[in-house]
Amino acid sequence: MTLDNNRYLLSGGVDPLELVEYYGSPLYVYDAAIIERQYKRMDSAFPVPRFKINYACKANANISIMKLLKNLGAGLDAVSINEVRLGLHVGYQAKDITFTPNCVAMDEIALAVRMGVRINIDSISILEQFGDAFAKVPVGIRINPHIMAGGNSKISTGHIDSKFGISIHQLPHVLKVVETTGLTIDGLHMHTGSDILDSEVFLQAAEILLNVATNFDHLDYIDFGSGFKVPYKFNDIETDIEDFGQRLSGRFNEFCREYGKELKLVFEPGKFLLSQAGYFLARVNVVKPTPSTLFAGLDTGLNHFIRPMFYNAFHRVENLSHPDGKPRIYTVVGYICETDTFANNRKIAEVHEGDTLCFFNAGAYGFAMASNYNSRCRPAEVMVYKGNDYLIREREKLDDILKNQHEVDVMNPAKELAGKTK
Ligand SMILES: *Cc1c(COP(=O)(O)O)cnc(C)c1O
Repeated sequence: MTLDNNRYLLSGGVDPLELVEYYGSPLYVYDAAIIERQYKRMDSAFPVPRFKINYACKANANISIMKLLKNLGAGLDAVSINEVRLGLHVGYQAKDITFTPNCVAMDEIALAVRMGVRINIDSISILEQFGDAFAKVPVGIRINPHIMAGGNSKISTGHIDSKFGISIHQLPHVLKVVETTGLTIDGLHMHTGSDILDSEVFLQAAEILLNVATNFDHLDYIDFGSGFKVPYKFNDIETDIEDFGQRLSGRFNEFCREYGKELKLVFEPGKFLLSQAGYFLARVNVVKPTPSTLFAGLDTGLNHFIRPMFYNAFHRVENLSHPDGKPRIYTVVGYICETDTFANNRKIAEVHEGDTLCFFNAGAYGFAMASNYNSRCRPAEVMVYKGNDYLIREREKLDDILKNQHEVDVMNPAKELAGKTK
């Protein structure tokens, strides 16, 4: 979103205030041009013969977003069987979907095998079961390199206490299981967490994974996961993807020469593709001064956008209605009966009740983590592209909250409502 002549505008000159006027508030808005830009940036940053970007759709599993990324050429990274199903639903081919779950039951993995998608296995126990059931199906394994990366302990997944992946120290055990079951390991995977602050750490982890790779003769791909840092503020640090791409690709190409085969280099970004493309728009219900604080209370809360509270994430806030107002210091809060603080002591152009505020970097893990807490309906989602806007998810209604519930008066029940004790 750019500020032009005192108006914030999306790509193609779309006015976000008109979108809120038309679709209502609160509202998630995605700028497809930014998703396209990020995809192309990443796609051209890695000069290797075989390269694939799998979109980690847990960041935003709206099927129109998944479709856009498919059309750009992405594959899909799924962490649940329903994400696999959504991928197939929007037209991804099974071979372009990778299933990288954590702590799921063998049943779910068996379903994925039947659907023909690639699988990365996350524990030795499941690897053994997989070998017993599907010895002929090539499979990948997720390695935990124990690199401490990630901006926040909730989102770093490679460290020693992490539940993710098979520890590199267990490699001898993995090799025994592979030999005994006759499995073919065709891929290695790692994902060290989100918000990797410098590419040096990433390159170290990559080196560990390449070292592991020398133990396997039938590899087809090496998947380095994700965790690219995107800017959240002006002049914020971000992963220099072009520089990182050059360095990793150089090392990767050299490794492939030693290995004697052109392996596929794979990444599975969520945040890098989606974060900056999304905006969360909400109206100010109340401006409330207390003895210590000037609150701006919104028509939304942690039920719709939980990153600030859950991860302590910083999200830029702007007043779209009055961008030229004199900046004052606000604490921006939600309407949920919890302390749901979006932003603390933030300078924002003077806020009036009825103004529309915008949270930036809301494209990844925004709507995807929304809930019905306080029996609130989840917001609508809109995507803009080339000057047009498209409703890609309806705003929920009370009916959606009631839909799967049964109204049972257990003290005075109708007989037919009893379950297995009927
Ligand atoms: C969440 C996740 C990703 C995406 O992480 P981002 O930080 O959003 O890029 C990639 N791979 C796996 C296995 C994940 O669980």
